[in-house]
Amino acid sequence: MKLLEYEAKAILTSFDIPIPRSSIITNLDNPIEVPTVLKSQVPVGGRGKAGGVRLVEKSEEVSTAAREILSLAIKGHTPKVLLAEEPLSIRHEYYLSLIINKSAGIIELMAHKDGGVEIEEQSDFKRWPIDEKNAANVAAELADYYDLTDVENLSILLTNLYRCFTESDATLLEINPLILTVDSKLIAGDCKMTLDDAARFRHSEWDFEDAPANANFVTLDPKGSVATIANGAGLAMATVDAVADACFTPANFLDVGGGANEASVLAAFEKIMEYPNVSAIVINIFAGITRCDEVAKAIISAKNQIHDLPKLYIRLAGTNYEAADDLLTRAGIPLLPSLADCLVAIQENSR
Ligand code: GDP
Ligand code: MN
Repeated sequence: MKLLEYEAKAILTSFDIPIPRSSIITNLDNPIEVPTVLKSQVPVGGRGKAGGVRLVEKSEEVSTAAREILSLAIKGHTPKVLLAEEPLSIRHEYYLSLIINKSAGIIELMAHKDGGVEIEEQSDFKRWPIDEKNAANVAAELADYYDLTDVENLSILLTNLYRCFTESDATLLEINPLILTVDSKLIAGDCKMTLDDAARFRHSEWDFEDAPANANFVTLDPKGSVATIANGAGLAMATVDAVADACFTPANFLDVGGGANEASVLAAFEKIMEYPNVSAIVINIFAGITRCDEVAKAIISAKNQIHDLPKLYIRLAGTNYEAADDLLTRAGIPLLPSLADCLVAIQENSR
């Protein structure tokens, strides 16, 4: 699960990692203090280049700027909230992240001397294995590489970052830029954080904006032509395999889960709408705890609300099937008896 910047920064603060002073803007009727850096809260990078990060100095310009950023779509995402941060006097911007090196089974620190919005252009990243014991040694080497003299401060930062990463069950923690201010403080200017969904049972505090829609949604091919919605990881994987066996490119894997309801299924449709090439959506639900009528209601809402919804191929079975059949029939949405029938129908329609 990918967090928004403000959500990730709230976690950083709880591990004593410095962030700029800030407030969250949801309601434009409240005054916003200037000067401020307004930042679009969307779950993608490159906001700076896309116009989603703006320094505003004049109070008469702030509400217009906020309105513009709130309506600006970045890579298909429009923010629900803005972050208004105190502007920093920047001396330098570094790149710093913690990642999991799966083949080595370790956590690594990745760093670059020159961070900021041009980071994609860089290739010569430094990497160090990091754990709770060697943070001080890594800090010494990092200080040398960054050309910083305050090793102690960097050591505290790395120790806190490591704790933050492991105790939060993160799979990625990226600070870009790590800002060195003119008064020599190190502050996390931006933060991208991904949490391990499988660790959810350990974190009753996890309650994030994007969580329900994205929980078990995996992009397989953003150019794929067939999207899938299924429940249960096994059935979801079998659905993806069946789509591939029928010679279509599956765009995604989605297990809507046992507790799938109208809202979560509707959110799944919205996510699928981000793929430009999807011309068919296969819905394969074997309802136990999930109720077919809830899924049917979501399908009907999606039909009514989403303009340009790709063609649906639906197979439902299990709890409250009759009620679902009734709702869908009245809405003029056909059901198919099996997944195989769905795939045959897609093949016929794509001829
Ligand atoms: P991203 O483009 O989505 O990664 O968004 P960032 O949060 O990294 O912001 C992009 C850039 O905004 C940074 O690299 C900074 O150069 C710039 N920026 C300018 N002033 C400020 C400031 O006061 N605070 C922060 N956080 N960034 C600033
Ligand atoms: Mn950034």
